[in-house]
Amino acid sequence: MRPFHYRAPRSLDEALALLTPQAVPLAGGTDLFLKMERRQTQADTVVDLKRIPELGRIEAADGGVRIGALALMDSLGASSLIAGQYEALTRSARVVGSIQTRNRATLGGNLANASPAADTATPLMALGASAEAADATGTRQVPVDQLFLGPGRTALRDGELLTAVLVPALPARAGSAFQRCVRTAMDIALVNCAAFVRLDGDDPDTVAEARIALGAVGPTPLRTASAENCLTGARLDERVVEEAGECAASDAQPIDDVRAGADYRREMVRVLTRRAIWKAFRRARGEA
Ligand SMILES: Cc1cc2nc3c(=O)[nH]c(=O)nc-3n(C[C@H](O)[C@H](O)[C@H](O)COP(=O)(O)OP(=O)(O)OC[C@H]3O[C@@H](n4cnc5c(N)ncnc54)[C@H](O)[C@@H]3O)c2cc1C
Repeated sequence: MRPFHYRAPRSLDEALALLTPQAVPLAGGTDLFLKMERRQTQADTVVDLKRIPELGRIEAADGGVRIGALALMDSLGASSLIAGQYEALTRSARVVGSIQTRNRATLGGNLANASPAADTATPLMALGASAEAADATGTRQVPVDQLFLGPGRTALRDGELLTAVLVPALPARAGSAFQRCVRTAMDIALVNCAAFVRLDGDDPDTVAEARIALGAVGPTPLRTASAENCLTGARLDERVVEEAGECAASDAQPIDDVRAGADYRREMVRVLTRRAIWKAFRRARGEA
């Protein structure tokens, strides 16, 4: 690893002032230090965000929840503001790496690192969440499903920090679920899938709104519009869910790599999408 300068600002303003083009933000370091070791980043200054208290808070906001970018996976997985409501997000935070990883890894780092397999990305996309970005001139919001531009690339601009994730209020008769498959407990996902389902007020078997997101089967986490269209307005039964799984598999763009073949991944998209839809549906009906 090349030598670097270390800065540990105590406020967001101080951190933003330190973010020159030669500087890189540090959260838990579980991705960044690997990149530095492999010389995949040219930064000569590391700006440690961990001493900025407001970035780690998880709090109720506008009927939903505002999660500071520095919130740990462990805190997310244990948060009573999230569990029971945003089940897909709780499940994803609880399966990231090991206990040790979850005690270092942050939500903001998981998103800003922009791995196609990032486990919290798909639940946030399914839940309709937005990322809050700040620079010296102010803040803006980017829907999480527009945040990822490619492997390791996000819509964050130079000098911008991800400060929080805003998850909207969960509507009535809505539920979500997260599914993933891995080779070993410590591996990143071969495929992950998150589903959000909102049911019709008059007919509890009919889907009024659906969002389905897939991970590790494309250059970025992605929404599957055809699976969502297949569900929206439909009375949920085996045939409809089967069809949604097929649609998701055809929207997926998996590749062969050392961890799995494209055909296997596509098949797992079918399976995990079906499971996630049924689980989200049951939660929306209050049965889970
Ligand atoms: C053993 C192990 C197991 C893992 N298992 C999983 C897994 O199961 N699922 C999974 O999804 N990931 C996994 N990961 C990857 C990693 O732990 C997560 O992506 C983690 O959430 C990254 O967060 P971090 O706080 O460590 O980020 P860091 O490593 O500190 O940062 C990651 C990147 O984001 C940038 N960054 C960080 N915070 C901000 C911010 N607020 N604003 C702008 N840019 C920022 C950094 O500059 C860096 O480029 C694993 C990693 C390890 C080492």
